[in-house]
Amino acid sequence: MKQYVMAKPELGRAEERAVIKVLRSGVLSLGPHIKEFESKFAKRIGVRYACAVSSGTAGLHVALLAAGIGRGDEVITSPFSFIASSNAILYVGAKPVFVDIDWRTYNIDCSKIEARITPRTRAILVVHIFGQPADMTAITKIAKKHKLSIIEDACEAISATHRGKQVGTFGQSAVFAFYPNKQITTGEGGMITTNSKDVVDICRSLINQGRSTDVQWLDHSRLGYNYRMGEMSAALGIHQLDRLSGLIRKRARLAQWYTEFFSNYKEIIGTPLIGSRNTHTWFVYVVRIHNKNISRDDVILSLKKCGVHSKPYLPSIHLFSFYKSVLKHRAGDFPVSEQISNSALALPFSLDLTKKDVHYIGSQLVRILNACK
Ligand SMILES: *Cc1c(COP(=O)(O)O)cnc(C)c1O
Repeated sequence: MKQYVMAKPELGRAEERAVIKVLRSGVLSLGPHIKEFESKFAKRIGVRYACAVSSGTAGLHVALLAAGIGRGDEVITSPFSFIASSNAILYVGAKPVFVDIDWRTYNIDCSKIEARITPRTRAILVVHIFGQPADMTAITKIAKKHKLSIIEDACEAISATHRGKQVGTFGQSAVFAFYPNKQITTGEGGMITTNSKDVVDICRSLINQGRSTDVQWLDHSRLGYNYRMGEMSAALGIHQLDRLSGLIRKRARLAQWYTEFFSNYKEIIGTPLIGSRNTHTWFVYVVRIHNKNISRDDVILSLKKCGVHSKPYLPSIHLFSFYKSVLKHRAGDFPVSEQISNSALALPFSLDLTKKDVHYIGSQLVRILNACK
């Protein structure tokens, strides 16, 4: 039986040649490809500086350190995210303070942010979930009023815009990720963007063992890490970035096929809603199951039987056992996030899917739900 997988990177001959060229050059780290990838990336996003890192998670860790966030501080963020956004806050010794999400966009509900601000609040770590920007107009206003830093987790939303401005340009810094299921990939990898020379200097030092950037040789002026990206990854990234617009067009087309198909079945399947000031770059295609007679998890098992892979997307972070033990959260604390977590389902979103494939996947889902009416 044909298998419909969740995601698959699109890699071509250009990527293949570029990686082989790096291999043959013998310069596998700290070489010219990193610099080229960084400068092309910064230009594409529309910021002054970019700093390549070994993963999106590493990027978030460093971005928080560079913002001076540490022990005793609180950072406001969304419980409906990939766990890395919240883990990074714990890495620096600060406390993630969750705010429930908007049921329409699954991004942080800005009307609930101010109630969670305390004298210890230092920053808002904004997640642009699934490829759709959070309401940066409202968030910027709140951050200004309360003198908070904004750090954007743009790992799922490269190239998405809010009021015509790309994600990654709103905060003091932003982080992108290039794991193979993201819009572009470097294998493992990430990028920090910022308009601040001070921030990028600290980031460059932190990812390279704390080495001073202004000293020729070894002075380690702070506690650093090895979060560097390698040359082969950077060479891949340069070519993936060239393809970015085309890849996003394909993702949008795929999303449109799904949405068109499901528009006839609105009573059983909720399709993504896009804010009027946003463009979406489709990290995943997530629907909601409206059916009281079958659980989302049983839908996943039934889909698997006809070759269709799907995933619960995403579980709410505050209910993971580790978070329950550290932050003492309970079911019911963030009801919207929990409700979406219990009904959301990510469907196959590999770019080689045809319209016919999408119709097959959609029909299987409709058949399973209709059988349990
Ligand atoms: C992918 C992702 C990250 C970073 O992931 P890495 O695997 O470390 O590159 C961070 N936040 C979100 C929301 C993500 O989707």
